[in-house]
Amino acid sequence: MRMPKGNTLRFAALACACALVASCGDSTPKLERPNIVLITIDTLRADHLGCYGYFRDTSPNIDAFAKESLVFDSAYAAMATTLPSHTSMLTARYPLEHGITANLMHGGKPFGWASGMVSFAQVAREAGYATAGFVSAAPLKAPSGIAAGFETWSEPEGAAVERKAGDTLSKTLPWLEQQASQPFFLWVHFYDPHWPHRAPPPYDKMFREQDAEAKEAWIAERKLPDVAVRSNARKSTQTRPALDNYCGEVRYADEQFGVLIEALRRKGVLENSIVVLTADHGEGLNQHEWTAHGLVWDEQLRVPLVMRFPKAAGVAPGRASQLVSLIDMMPTALGRVQSFDTPKWREFFKLATGVDALAADFEERPVFAQRTGRELAEDPGEMYAITTPRWKFIHEPEVGDKLFDRSADPHELQDLAAKDAQQSAAQRRQMQLMMDLQKRRGAELGPAEAGEMDPELLRQMQALGYLGGEDGRNGEAPTPKVPQEEPVPDEDEAPKEQGDKP
Ligand SMILES: [Zn+2]
Repeated sequence: MRMPKGNTLRFAALACACALVASCGDSTPKLERPNIVLITIDTLRADHLGCYGYFRDTSPNIDAFAKESLVFDSAYAAMATTLPSHTSMLTARYPLEHGITANLMHGGKPFGWASGMVSFAQVAREAGYATAGFVSAAPLKAPSGIAAGFETWSEPEGAAVERKAGDTLSKTLPWLEQQASQPFFLWVHFYDPHWPHRAPPPYDKMFREQDAEAKEAWIAERKLPDVAVRSNARKSTQTRPALDNYCGEVRYADEQFGVLIEALRRKGVLENSIVVLTADHGEGLNQHEWTAHGLVWDEQLRVPLVMRFPKAAGVAPGRASQLVSLIDMMPTALGRVQSFDTPKWREFFKLATGVDALAADFEERPVFAQRTGRELAEDPGEMYAITTPRWKFIHEPEVGDKLFDRSADPHELQDLAAKDAQQSAAQRRQMQLMMDLQKRRGAELGPAEAGEMDPELLRQMQALGYLGGEDGRNGEAPTPKVPQEEPVPDEDEAPKEQGDKP
């Protein structure tokens, strides 16, 4: 019997869905070996995207993607620092557990991975996935350990400390084109919104001195100063140009994100893929008198988290309001996947502190974040924070505690620690319990195996402003005054060629 064309298509779609879905013994549909694509845009504040309510058109491609996805409204990085944050994403563990609490460690040696650590890239590779990572900046170069499990790896070449998203994609897209029947885990990292904020044309002037009324309202609501002094460079940054220039970089990254999604769609693999967009941290943009990142304020920790699932996963596009950490990202994505039933899969979930935020038994709990101090004269020192649905609590060993009511004060402007000492003490106890647990779990992983630092990489990191110093390891709270992220080149210096940032 000849089937009407529409029915043929529906039948084909059904057959395709059946191939993807496996029975898992519960009512949740599970995907069988979907592709998994992780896109991280460095330094991308959630609130600078249209799909998170921003007043400018910085993200048309991400917004379109978000309409087909589940958008997490309250997702938080574990650290506002590139390498620790990405390591937490890929291992589903907090920095005090995996021990990578800065971008470099003392003595010019890179962080090694503890022998017990498992990255999802290793899980996927053991399960027969093609694994590929394409990163755009020195803190994520292979000697950092983050490349574990990726059989294909691409990073800024030679002495280059970063590369533009377009250049990273020029390596990614040919690889994608070559993929055939084997499922793949693809990680693409863009670095463009990172300081210094110099987008290529036409993005550099796209938002310059635009939207004056909305911009002033934005600035007033957050009580941004006109100028903030970057503590370690002692250079001032003007708020309004910084906002405009940052928006241009976000828009450029968004355009490149669109190119990648279109390539997945054209190849016909988008519907068989779980695609996750997030950021390793946000950016201060002078909020709380801080231009870049590395601290524990909301604007530096809150990140976009957008997950697009195949229809067969049974996850409807929409908004997810539950409070999540990026350590929950992989468990949540993989919660829609049938077990690979391999040793590393089981080990990954046994070790993971992160949980499946879409599971029926998911219970909202505080999310933790920290800052490692740096060896700098005016460094703010180490900081620890927990965010709960109601409260934000910050503990600074060298300063004291801060408490904010998130529902009444989302921009963290009114410190209530003195006024509500009881609540503050309760939050401090809760935070201490979380830290104790993280340290215990970190100790279980065993000592990290630090390798030898590539002298050229060390030079590159120093060129970016990452200085040497002490650092905490597994199971230990970080020693104060440690190196961290944060290239802070002179703003007074003559602008360099586009694409040649630091
Ligand atoms: Zn970063």
